[in-house]
Amino acid sequence: MRDPLLLTPGPLTTSLATKTAMLHDWGSWDKDFNHLTAQVRQKLVELIDGQGTHTCVPLQGSGTFAVEAAIGTLMPRGGKLLCLVNGAYGKRIAQLTEVMGRRVTVKDFGESKAVDAEAVAVCLAQDDEITHVAVVYCETSTGILNPMEAISAAVAAAGKKLIIDAMSAFGALSISTAKLTFDAVIASSNKCLEGVPGMGFVLANIQSLEQAKGNSHSLSLDLHDQWQYMERTGQWRYTPPTHVLAALASALHQYDQEGGQAARLARYTENCQQLISGINGLGLRSFLAPEIQAPIIVTVHAPVHPNWQFNEFYQLTKDEGVVLYPGKLTDAETFRVGCIGAIGKAEIAMAIDAMARAFKQMGIETAAL
Ligand SMILES: *Cc1c(COP(=O)(O)O)cnc(C)c1O
Repeated sequence: MRDPLLLTPGPLTTSLATKTAMLHDWGSWDKDFNHLTAQVRQKLVELIDGQGTHTCVPLQGSGTFAVEAAIGTLMPRGGKLLCLVNGAYGKRIAQLTEVMGRRVTVKDFGESKAVDAEAVAVCLAQDDEITHVAVVYCETSTGILNPMEAISAAVAAAGKKLIIDAMSAFGALSISTAKLTFDAVIASSNKCLEGVPGMGFVLANIQSLEQAKGNSHSLSLDLHDQWQYMERTGQWRYTPPTHVLAALASALHQYDQEGGQAARLARYTENCQQLISGINGLGLRSFLAPEIQAPIIVTVHAPVHPNWQFNEFYQLTKDEGVVLYPGKLTDAETFRVGCIGAIGKAEIAMAIDAMARAFKQMGIETAAL
């Protein structure tokens, strides 16, 4: 039987080829494995047109580890971060910065609006102690798309450094050094690249990374040290996620075969449109305005009905082979459905059918519209 479809913010449904790539054991010192690491690093730099200006520093752990490592390494201890927030992942960046004892100021745009680049320019003009700005490309807690080019231009015009959490965007939404100026872009193996979870990576400006020696508050999250060690030995510091890397190498190969970023964006955009029209057909509506909806994950208003209960809905759809995700909003009752992963038309249709049957079983026939 097929594994349940993971229509979530990650980990996601992966292809059989990606799963099969994990059937071997690799020694961490082995030259074949080191070669694979080098290949993956180089490929990830090419994806942002960063050859010569940026380097890829992979890091063991989930995506948040890489975000914490990037902030802790690239921002000097006396630096100050302006954190642009429109959801839970933006808040998390502010929180991890505070926990590591660095100065942080938050500009909050609420949960249903994109970050406004003009407001960012105003914040930067008002506080000249700010050295770095952090922003989430696609705020996965709702699915909001933030206007990266305008934000990057505002930050560059103020002479500040930009750190982009592109976790749920990388591979699907465009990220190129030709259009964006940034110190670092952070992503992970298990989102739009369709690998398995276990490693993050930071695509860092080489000059900024060179100047970052000694900034880190942490040994294992020190990206400068991880980078230097990898450049010197070809190996990872500490045990590498060997199977995860092998799966990512395969996933990147499949990515190219599919047609790269444009093809992936096109597939996810179709998934997203099919999902939203299917949901509308069930009498439900999505939370975000269409112009700020990224084709990554859709937040849906839960039915307004006394029988509504996410846990029951979750179980009923899971029994049909579809795994959905709870909402993450503070003041609206919602659930989320992902558009990303190794899925297409047939899988989205299956998800809509599963939702329709679940509502019926729950005795929910009325529309939320
Ligand atoms: C998934 C994600 C992360 C990282 O989450 P982990 O659970 O640590 O992998 C960070 N930021 C965004 C925007 C994400 O979508």
